[in-house]
Amino acid sequence: MTRVHNFNAGPAALPLPALERARDELVDFQGTGMSIMEHSHRGKTYEAVHHEAGALLRTLLGISDDYAVLFLQGGASQQFAMVPMNLLRPDQSADYVLTGVWSEKALSEAKLVGKARTAATTAVDGRYTRVPKQSELELDPAAAYVHLTSNNTIFGTQWPAFPSTGEVPAVCDMSSDILSRRFDVSRFGLIYAGAQKNLGPSGLVVVIVRKDLVAAGRKDIPKIFRYATHAENDSLYNTPPTFAIYLLRNVLLWTESLGGLAAIEEQNRKKGELLYGAIDRLASFYRCPVERESRSLMNVVYRLPSEELEAKFVSEATKAGLVGLKGHRSVGGIRASLYNAVSLEDVSALVSFMESFAAKNG
Ligand SMILES: *Cc1c(COP(=O)(O)O)cnc(C)c1O
Repeated sequence: MTRVHNFNAGPAALPLPALERARDELVDFQGTGMSIMEHSHRGKTYEAVHHEAGALLRTLLGISDDYAVLFLQGGASQQFAMVPMNLLRPDQSADYVLTGVWSEKALSEAKLVGKARTAATTAVDGRYTRVPKQSELELDPAAAYVHLTSNNTIFGTQWPAFPSTGEVPAVCDMSSDILSRRFDVSRFGLIYAGAQKNLGPSGLVVVIVRKDLVAAGRKDIPKIFRYATHAENDSLYNTPPTFAIYLLRNVLLWTESLGGLAAIEEQNRKKGELLYGAIDRLASFYRCPVERESRSLMNVVYRLPSEELEAKFVSEATKAGLVGLKGHRSVGGIRASLYNAVSLEDVSALVSFMESFAAKNG
């Protein structure tokens, strides 16, 4: 078996032990004579998996009982709409901090639902190379919520620390860095994350939401879009993506076995130092467009001297077993996504390749 060095942006690398466990349990889950996919979502066998995934997430992230943990569908993109549908009343406005493509999309969905404004943007000619400073946020103290994006998957920027939003609940799209570092859940009113970066396979989105916000959510929207519906039904109102939740459980068990978020954070810091260190060391050939304080540890973007060399880099890297390095089509360049399942060895292999590529083509 050969597994490549997978730097995909999402769907992305999954931890091998989580996949191997799924392989071993695929055809006959715990002696039940069927796979977990074939079990009823209302049966005891699946319910145990469902609850284990929720409990592991609560432990790993330190989520208190003031919050509901929901397993939903429609990806992070559906949350762009569900957040304002639930939390934005007609007499209110919501604040959006624009730090990349995903936050722009979130804002445009909110504007279809109600009043929403830009509380800050770091865009210059449509590009983002940093996150704003606290002093740059023009927050409306009466806003229903402030929307943030913790890590900008396409532009390779990340908040090193989260800004304060005062008394206004912070809502955060953490799709591409949840579970990558420690943070204080209690600073947020709502957190959402599509699973396909750090949590598991696509098809599942995790929502962590304060119960008082759930209770105060609007009732004049279809039931399926209300957080309250899913909270009251333990995310079993409709048939959930059972196999994706099962795999999430495997990923969370792996995360726990490594020593939880503190250990993962340390590992991610080392990976980032290794790759950014190489980019900075080989600065006559590679260039990172992101401001140093905003550099993402999850998505490392960089440029080569020409687009021709970038294309050659991607194609030769692929042949060498280093895949998924092409930057997002909207920005070009190179992007190496270093999610939790990407190991220090994977990053070392990339750095060795970068050194020899620069020596040959520089
Ligand atoms: C990938 C991503 C999304 C989109 O996720 P979908 O599950 O495809 O809707 C949204 N926000 C961020 C920050 C992302 O990285």
